[in-house]
Amino acid sequence: MTQEISLAILEILRETYGQVEPGLHYKNQYQLLISVVLSAQTTDKQVNTVTPVLFQEYPDFKSLAQAEITDIETIIRSTGFYRNKAKNIVMLSGIIISKYNGKVPDTLEDLTFLPGVGRKSAQVVRAFGFGIPAIPVDTHVMRVSKRIGYTTSTNPVEVERALAGIISEEDWIESHVLFITHGRSICLSRKPSCDRCPIYCYCDFVNNNP
Ligand code: SF4
Repeated sequence: MTQEISLAILEILRETYGQVEPGLHYKNQYQLLISVVLSAQTTDKQVNTVTPVLFQEYPDFKSLAQAEITDIETIIRSTGFYRNKAKNIVMLSGIIISKYNGKVPDTLEDLTFLPGVGRKSAQVVRAFGFGIPAIPVDTHVMRVSKRIGYTTSTNPVEVERALAGIISEEDWIESHVLFITHGRSICLSRKPSCDRCPIYCYCDFVNNNP
């Protein structure tokens, strides 16, 4: 994959999908971080069905840190793994109050120290909560970038490095959202719709599976 081809791919995806937005609904860094933790192993859409109630009853880290875990479990149950998630978001709220003075940290090291926050989640918070250039690698970004030919690796950190080495820093966040959008609409996991894919001619997957 060359930078020239990558630029052409991003331009086509931009033209195809227009202005792309992240799937989670949030109004501030608190809501983003909690939504990201809840989004593990489920869809953004599912998370968006529980967060309005959660944030209405627990509007900040302070209130969430003091919550009864069983009350949180009841609200977030439909997101799956709700016992762990409830414990994690209450615990991380306490840590943010005591260690970070109630403010979401912005480094990978500090974010991944929080329970329930892995590298991908931390990069999402950095990108969308702080505007720091990052390419979070989720299942869609991994699949789409491998199929197109940005990488052959299945290691998320290596995929992230490969993408960051080819895509210009100012395009990292947008590329992440474009790849997710493409992965959800055309480059589907089980059966990609290559016959109606706008980047068909640049894709390694079709060249290797004619
Ligand atoms: S051509 Fe097929 S495999 Fe390649 S990006 Fe498009 S849908 Fe995905």
